[in-house]
Amino acid sequence: MNLKSAFFMALVVLSSLGASASGTAIDCDANKNKELLRIKQGETLFYKQINFVSTTDISVQLEKRTEDGSKEIRNGVFFEKDSALYVLLPFQVNDVPGKYVLKVTERDSGKCLFEKQVVLVKNPFPVHRSRSWKKVEVSEKTQEKIDAEKSAIRASYLMNGAGGSWLNGFGLPIERNGTIGMVTHPFGEIRKGRGKNSKYVRIHFGVDLRAPQGYPVKSIGDGVVVLVGERYVAEGNLTVISHGNDIFSLYLHQSSVDVKEGEKVLAGQVIGKVGETGAAFGPHLDLRIRVNGVFIDPIQFIKTLHKN
Ligand SMILES: [Zn+2]
Repeated sequence: MNLKSAFFMALVVLSSLGASASGTAIDCDANKNKELLRIKQGETLFYKQINFVSTTDISVQLEKRTEDGSKEIRNGVFFEKDSALYVLLPFQVNDVPGKYVLKVTERDSGKCLFEKQVVLVKNPFPVHRSRSWKKVEVSEKTQEKIDAEKSAIRASYLMNGAGGSWLNGFGLPIERNGTIGMVTHPFGEIRKGRGKNSKYVRIHFGVDLRAPQGYPVKSIGDGVVVLVGERYVAEGNLTVISHGNDIFSLYLHQSSVDVKEGEKVLAGQVIGKVGETGAAFGPHLDLRIRVNGVFIDPIQFIKTLHKN
């Protein structure tokens, strides 16, 4: 299949999304607008503006006003459909808590169409100390392999389409059933070593879900497979799926992958099997979601945009 054409997926009828916030009020004076959208570090803010039809190209941006009066601006993910504007704003684990502004403007004229105040709250990520968390010395040859794998993953993020298919919603890759699907290591976990490795610190950018070897792994949403990595040193057997608009899901450590690069997949479709390939201690699924270049909490993301 032609990869490029596959990215411009047909839009399917909108399912009702679990909007975290929505509104109609248009007010470009943030001081007058009392409505605050609250979100935590590492989470994704979903905002729906109803009765919104743009007549020209728009930009959707997140603005952080820093103490010295300067502005830090970041682009948001957005999609217009059925007279509504849908916005996703991912926050990094280390974004500074405080006030931000979601600003929608006309691209050419810079005219403000509306803005909303956003309050970013500190997320108390858990610390996990273990002797297992340590720097692993690898040979030069292995390091070269790791570097090549990292660049293959980065290249897959460029295969991103216009999409809008994310509005169809998302579901868990492994549904909860007893202890299956349980979160064993949450997103944002701060991993610290012990003893002589006590200076070792890493952040967990995925969520680890418990499941036995060979358990089916489902795609979280409609999309296109943009990478199948075989026996990667860290990720093991890896699948990367593009959901359009710079949204990607990654499935690590699989025992086998059942899809091919360029293949279209639907939400809930089995794409592979749970394993412990790569750097994994026992079989589990490490799910990662990347929105606009930022790894965010997959569970919060799926709950917010849950497929009904
Ligand atoms: Zn993990």
